[in-house]
Amino acid sequence: MNSNWALKDKKALITGGTKGIGKAITEEFLLLGAEVFIISRTESDIKRLVKKYKGKGYKIHGMKCDVTNHDDRIILFKHVKKLFGKLDILINNAGWNNRKSTLQSSEDELIRVLKLNFNSVFEMCRVFHPLLNKSKKSAIVNISSVAGITSVGTGSSYASSKAGIIHFTRYLAVEWAKENIRVNSVAPWYIRTTLTEPLLKKPVYFKSVLSRTPMKRVGTPDEVARTVAFLSMDASSYITGECISVDGGFLKFGFSLT
Ligand code: NAP
Repeated sequence: MNSNWALKDKKALITGGTKGIGKAITEEFLLLGAEVFIISRTESDIKRLVKKYKGKGYKIHGMKCDVTNHDDRIILFKHVKKLFGKLDILINNAGWNNRKSTLQSSEDELIRVLKLNFNSVFEMCRVFHPLLNKSKKSAIVNISSVAGITSVGTGSSYASSKAGIIHFTRYLAVEWAKENIRVNSVAPWYIRTTLTEPLLKKPVYFKSVLSRTPMKRVGTPDEVARTVAFLSMDASSYITGECISVDGGFLKFGFSLT
């Protein structure tokens, strides 16, 4: 009997699978039985993780790839095609935040954020479509942010890129539903990673974040990873175009005296 609550033998590609949320997704997927391919710009991180998890008996591969670079994406596609022959799961996780306000941001900074957080997601989906289609039952999960839904004081360029991801996810879900490719997104609030640590270690900032969070704590990367795993497995087979927030109740919070 095959459980729908697993990723046994699913072939998965995870962008930015070496740190923070992406690393947690990598670990969750390996535990659930997936064969994982990780990419990032830092070769030493990839080699270290592949060696570590292969040594523990997991099926993991990886290569250096900058998702914003067209040639890198094509080389990656050829590599994954040769290795897997198809792709069951694509996780678009690599991202970066420019926290400058609208007036402080230059056009170059806007382009840098959009190129990584939005354009690369769009292009990765397009490039890997033939392999996702070959799977006959595949899933894409795009990592957005609560900043794509409401104003949280991050830079407007970052917020706009993440809002774009949520709407792109809806559109692609409808376009590719006939091919049985499901497309969903997740929107985390504060998760403790290298991206957010500089802010969270400021006591006043941290206190302010908790005051807006009903669960009175920030999230952990594995809490996002478990939601991503659910959206990637057959247990969520009738869910597509959805965005699930992983936010300790942040988006539902209006006002409370306590
Ligand atoms: P992180 O700790 O900085 O990790 C980012 C990962 O992406 C790293 O593995 C990084 O590796 C890789 N990466 C960055 N640029 C890349 C590129 N051009 N090509 C390939 N890989 C690249 O960030 P995180 O906090 O885990 O965030 C992951 C995602 O969650 C992002 O999309 C972020 O916007 C989103 N998010 C995070 C939070 C949070 O609170 N942490 C909240 C909401 C949304 P290299 O640097 O070696 O390339």
